[in-house]
Amino acid sequence: MKTGSAEIARLLARPLEELVAEADSLRRLRHGDGVWIRGLLEFTNRCTCNCLYCGLRAANGRLGRYSLTEEEILLSVRAGFARGLGTFVLQGGEDPDWTTDRLCRLVEAIKVETEGRAAVTLSCGIKSRGDYRRLVACGADRYLLRFETADPALHERLRGGISLRRRLQALDDLREEGFELGSGFMVGLPGETEAVRVANLELCRDLALDMVGIGPFIANPDTPLAGEASGTLEATVRMTAALRLLLPDANIPATTAAGSLFSQGREAMLGAGANVLMPNVTPLAYRERYLLYPGKDTITQDGIQELEAIAAHLEELGRRADLGRGDSPSRTRTNKKQMDQNSKKTIEKT
Ligand code: SAM
Ligand code: SF4
Repeated sequence: MKTGSAEIARLLARPLEELVAEADSLRRLRHGDGVWIRGLLEFTNRCTCNCLYCGLRAANGRLGRYSLTEEEILLSVRAGFARGLGTFVLQGGEDPDWTTDRLCRLVEAIKVETEGRAAVTLSCGIKSRGDYRRLVACGADRYLLRFETADPALHERLRGGISLRRRLQALDDLREEGFELGSGFMVGLPGETEAVRVANLELCRDLALDMVGIGPFIANPDTPLAGEASGTLEATVRMTAALRLLLPDANIPATTAAGSLFSQGREAMLGAGANVLMPNVTPLAYRERYLLYPGKDTITQDGIQELEAIAAHLEELGRRADLGRGDSPSRTRTNKKQMDQNSKKTIEKT
């Protein structure tokens, strides 16, 4: 085992309470009590990939498919921005109808709608480096692409033949093109061992991520992983705390998967170092169809009312909802300048 790996293995073996307390103090020290609120838009559930774990996989014939129109997306952005949201996360499957040209036009339209002030995060899978470059040029700020598991053989098997190497190449391309970078993994995938858990953490640290998204794997009956055991709350909390200690500045969301599988899942992640929440602002009519896994927390309230409830709930937890952009603290001034130039260019074009 490499020195770094041995250190991480020791970190993971520490008593949970101790690990969580240390991660929580570090979170308070580096990030304060604010929790960044990002508006999540699940804009298409169509996907050409066949990841074994995911309900959106192309081979799942039981799922009713949808793709939002630009107008529907912009309406949600308008409502969220009016309420003060400073980041919109556009997540979807690898949908060929959403060409890079179309995504670029959408990003530009969101920038115009929000007077260049809101950050746009994309999460729509592997694309070419040239595509990523065009998206940055149009004003996209951040990209989320989980590596899912750091075990190359497991990755290739679970992702229908797509190699970990290809995923990591995409992450490298995203970083090189100037995106604020998010990645992460699922906790408790079938085949995960202690060595894989250590490798997952080590890879997050080595990638020096700006954002780290993790959540428990949840077995979906409409996938080849039906009937497998799902990830546990304890493992998810342990990994969250370890990540906070390894990446003190990273923005770490308390994810939907944790909230869907365990009633206090998001709260437990917030108490173990997480500092971001991503409420769903997708139009209500579509929410039930973004079914990655069963029991997905598809809150049936209007997204904006949800924001009020979240703010009140965070206050009960001694935390504070922060609707600002919440750029990564590890980003440099140069990037900020680049972002400002991008917004200016977009607005000038209209
Ligand atoms: N298609 C893009 C991608 O794969 O990066 C973005 C959308 S994908 C649905 C978002 C994330 O959902 C994946 O990165 C994966 O970690 C998570 N996910 C998919 N199926 C899941 C499951 N059964 N349990 C928990 N998380 C799951
Ligand atoms: Fe498609 Fe992403 Fe689901 Fe894989 S995880 S099937 S790429 S939506």
